[in-house]
Amino acid sequence: MDEESITNKQEVRSLLQKMRDGAIKELSPTVDPKQGLIYPEAEAELKENVQSTLDAIHREGLFLKEQKGNVTACKKCGGTSFMIMYRCPNCNSLSLRKGLVIQHLTCGYTELESVFAENNYICPKCKKRLRALGVDYVKPGIQYVCNECGNITQSPTILLQCWICGELQTIEEANYVEINKYRLDHTKRDLLAKVTFNLAPIVQRVSALGWVAKKGYKLRGKSGVEHTFTLALWPYEYGSKGTPDVVVEIHLGVVEEVQVLSLYAKAIDTEIRNVILAAVPAVSDKAKALAKYYKINIVEAEDTEVLIEKLALAIEDIIKKLLVS
Ligand SMILES: [Zn+2]
Ligand SMILES: [Zn+2]
Ligand SMILES: [Zn+2]
Repeated sequence: MDEESITNKQEVRSLLQKMRDGAIKELSPTVDPKQGLIYPEAEAELKENVQSTLDAIHREGLFLKEQKGNVTACKKCGGTSFMIMYRCPNCNSLSLRKGLVIQHLTCGYTELESVFAENNYICPKCKKRLRALGVDYVKPGIQYVCNECGNITQSPTILLQCWICGELQTIEEANYVEINKYRLDHTKRDLLAKVTFNLAPIVQRVSALGWVAKKGYKLRGKSGVEHTFTLALWPYEYGSKGTPDVVVEIHLGVVEEVQVLSLYAKAIDTEIRNVILAAVPAVSDKAKALAKYYKINIVEAEDTEVLIEKLALAIEDIIKKLLVS
């Protein structure tokens, strides 16, 4: 993996970690009339350049991609909501009549059937009466007649006007966007090991102490908001449901006060007493002071392997204290 790799970005690693832990199963987009394609889970991590980042991760081999469809998006603003209009391909007029067309073979005159009907089926051009379908006239089907230039066509130009920004564009000018779903390619073990950490050793060590650990655990707080923790732990006898006794949040990147505050709020909302905040590569001094005040345990290490080792020790420490009390 070279220095240009997209996986050097912390937010990308954080997304991949959540996918590896199962907190995010897949990245499936929704089509928004205003914003076009949106990937809510990826956006929560990546904030910007979501589509190009997902494409880059896919190019590096970490994602499996599956196309679910496509959508046409405004060339100017990316919106997917349009007013659709037909335009004369000859003179660009938007004044067109649509209907069944008759071509008078005798003189070649072509007009809507309704015009011939109003004229008692006497050709407006050569003034001869139409006699028999297929003999002196044919009906080439439903067509569009331009009121400006008289051009008749079966396929007028399709013009799209964006409801969001008003931009006029043909279908060819608008953006064709693939709707793709992404999943982590778990078979790329070596690649994944470089950018995410493996929580399996912790789960094993915890289970040796008679505890159970779940990755990417989701829990609804008193506020009704759902929170996700990197790891949640319970003594076996309580099963692995409801409020865990211990939770761990792993942060890739330097932890600042805001991450401590956010974790504290999650702990209050879910009424979890034992909270560990683990970070690669470090926790700022201010964040450490805040964590101490809120009784949040801090574990930090420069690389993920060392972090996992330190974290396992910290968890074992808390479990032993809980067993004593
Ligand atoms: Zn637009
Ligand atoms: Zn005629
Ligand atoms: Zn025309």
